[in-house]
Amino acid sequence: MLIFEYKLDGSRAQYAAMDEAIRIVQFIRNKCLRLWMDERGISKNDLQCYCSVLAKDYPIATQLNSQARQASADRAWFAISRFYDNCKTHKPGKKGYPKFQHNNRSIEYKQTGWKLEPDGKHITLTDGCDIGCLRLVGNPKQKITAFPLDQIKRVRIVHRADGYYVQFGVKAERAIVHQPTGKQVGIDVGLKAYYTDSDGNTVDNPRQYRKAERKLKRLQRQVSRKQKKSANRKKARKHLARAHLQVQRQREDFARKTASTLVSSHDLIAYEDLQICNMVRNHHLAKSIHDAGWGTFLSWVKAYGVTHNVPIIAVAPHFTSQECSACGALVKKSLSVRTHICTSCGVVLDRDHNAALNILAKALACTLGHRETSGSPENASGQTASTRLSQRKMSKRAG
Ligand SMILES: [Zn+2]
Repeated sequence: MLIFEYKLDGSRAQYAAMDEAIRIVQFIRNKCLRLWMDERGISKNDLQCYCSVLAKDYPIATQLNSQARQASADRAWFAISRFYDNCKTHKPGKKGYPKFQHNNRSIEYKQTGWKLEPDGKHITLTDGCDIGCLRLVGNPKQKITAFPLDQIKRVRIVHRADGYYVQFGVKAERAIVHQPTGKQVGIDVGLKAYYTDSDGNTVDNPRQYRKAERKLKRLQRQVSRKQKKSANRKKARKHLARAHLQVQRQREDFARKTASTLVSSHDLIAYEDLQICNMVRNHHLAKSIHDAGWGTFLSWVKAYGVTHNVPIIAVAPHFTSQECSACGALVKKSLSVRTHICTSCGVVLDRDHNAALNILAKALACTLGHRETSGSPENASGQTASTRLSQRKMSKRAG
């Protein structure tokens, strides 16, 4: 699924109508959740049926397109099923009992309720929410009309700090012909350098949050000083939200471009499968770890690995920084020791460079083992539940 995004341009009345529609989505989701809490043994199908009951009981719900209503019920089910999964797998810590939502920001339409105008620059929302026709603002080279209409599976309207956006979920594959380079690489993500690869190259950490911290703190103070519920507080909050959005976008942009460069210039990439949610429990490093945005970076590396057809291999994070990459001896060192000096073979390397070499060696050993048995590395796509989860956590923090 490819996502194409545009900013929406409309009148003040249209924005208000979108806010109203977003509130209806939230209402339906919360109603579904209430039903599940009150009556045990509710299935996904029951929630779908409950949508039509809601539409009968509450005239306001009928304004929203019927498939969008169902999508809202699906969201409730998503929260419920994740809770069930966490309980079944005995996930350590909190299980994520579903909560009522109060700050919903999006509506999801499926294949009805909207219409693309023939000029490809306008979208009309045709349901009863009276949103009407909105202009699409975006890169002129990005042409959503180039895809047949039945490939557009989802249309999502998202409210952000600086306006309203529409995302088109298009069912299409993006494949890039990868130019073989014959290079294999292991990467070690860190706080000092963004990442260090097994050839000893480093990419500097941009630390966007640290750079913006003073500005953000000032804006945060402005919000705290204003009287609660006042118009000035609302204004100050808006400024703060925009500043956060800017940091979030800078981070995303950097992660994406770095990942693209990395994948397009290598034929195999190995990375350490970090448990980021465990690491951020260290409060001294939490902010720096979130600022580094490893989760986002690694998920882009994986995504580009799929489009370039380059294997991305996750390696268990045990002893990668302690072991000597030359002879395999264990050299104990604390986090503050930045150089690896082997006591048995005398190798001197940067700490992260040594770790990156170990990660590559581990990945190669594991792919060889798999190739003998199954023909292809099992975890070549690099999908692991833990990184996905922690990434969600991170994006929440960032937003
Ligand atoms: Zn050694």
